[in-house]
Amino acid sequence: MMQIPFMDVKAQYHTIEDEIKHAILDVLNSGEYILGEQVKRFEEEFATYNKVSYAVAVGNGTEALIIALKALGIGPGDEIITTPSTFYATTESILQVGAVPVYVDINMDTYLLDETKIESCITDKTKAILPVHLYGQCANMEAILAIAKKYQLKVIEDSCQAVGAEFKGKKAGSMGDIGCFSFFPTKNLGCAGDGGMIVTNNKELATVCKSLRAHCSGINGYEAYHIMKPNHLEEIQKPPQNISKYNHYGVCYNSRLDELQAAILRVKLPHLEEWNGLRREHAAYYCERLLGVKTPIEAKDCYHTYHLFILRVNNQAYYINYLKKKGIQSGVYYPVPMHLQTVCNFEKKDHQILKNAEILASKSIAIPVYPELSKEELDYIIGAILEANHGY
Ligand SMILES: *Cc1c(COP(=O)(O)O)cnc(C)c1O
Repeated sequence: MMQIPFMDVKAQYHTIEDEIKHAILDVLNSGEYILGEQVKRFEEEFATYNKVSYAVAVGNGTEALIIALKALGIGPGDEIITTPSTFYATTESILQVGAVPVYVDINMDTYLLDETKIESCITDKTKAILPVHLYGQCANMEAILAIAKKYQLKVIEDSCQAVGAEFKGKKAGSMGDIGCFSFFPTKNLGCAGDGGMIVTNNKELATVCKSLRAHCSGINGYEAYHIMKPNHLEEIQKPPQNISKYNHYGVCYNSRLDELQAAILRVKLPHLEEWNGLRREHAAYYCERLLGVKTPIEAKDCYHTYHLFILRVNNQAYYINYLKKKGIQSGVYYPVPMHLQTVCNFEKKDHQILKNAEILASKSIAIPVYPELSKEELDYIIGAILEANHGY
């Protein structure tokens, strides 16, 4: 019997082992471990890859979201329109800055925030829309940006599962005001620990994010402070001569990507297109052969990168156990939608009816789709699912 894990980060490491080892040793020998050359170069390379002007590396995807919200001036009382079907960090970041998540149900074809339901949720407290490009597919950014423009809302793209994904040829994270990424090991581009990135085309936002990630210190902190001042319009005064990195201009964070992780990510980034391509091939192979099974739909205008491959089934537990007996690991992403999380019960907000999000949580399973899967493994998984279908 085959044994197939749900994800296999070691398999990927083995394909680039020598390069990674060299990169790590170079960093160790350089003696520069925090915010050095590797982070700077990786920020440049990541910005180029995503076709954005600025990239700011941070400690993880969650803090990328928190810093992005802070930089946009979002705080207590502000309402943020978002999706209930996501990893908790999306909602957590909103709550962390004191804002209120307002949930809009998902579209059942794509499992992404249903843009047609956004407008009815807008109030005079709404400050931003925070779509999640869940499973590796972009939400309908054209519609979302049009609504944002009409109501003067900010747009933060949670692109943590969608590095390399596209909407109308534009990269995930590059379309709104700010995009946030995670390099958690199992993401499509993962490091050997925690890591994250913020991207933007707005110079002032980039300055503020840089400042927020490291104690609002020095000239960068000084500039950020003046950008964040209410109604700042005047030219920022030339900073006084005597500013050192021990002058601080705000209550911020310590959230930095370290040099070792940046060096690893620099080795991996050039492989990303190839790895995403393999995920797409696996997905196409599944869709072609899993007849009678509800497989994912790639929306028009989208380039899906299949961070997760989702099947909709009638009996979640039956399929998970059946596959388990066959040595195949599967998972549920995510079993508890955000509006049903205990922490969200504190907010006595009248959410829309979020039926689709609840259906997704209770009737979907994710099967392995990582790039290194062999054809034999894919065939074995397909065989097991069809067999399970037959027995149901
Ligand atoms: C992984 C993930 C995050 C959080 O990223 P971390 O690096 O784990 O903090 C946020 N949002 C979504 C949708 C994610 O999948």
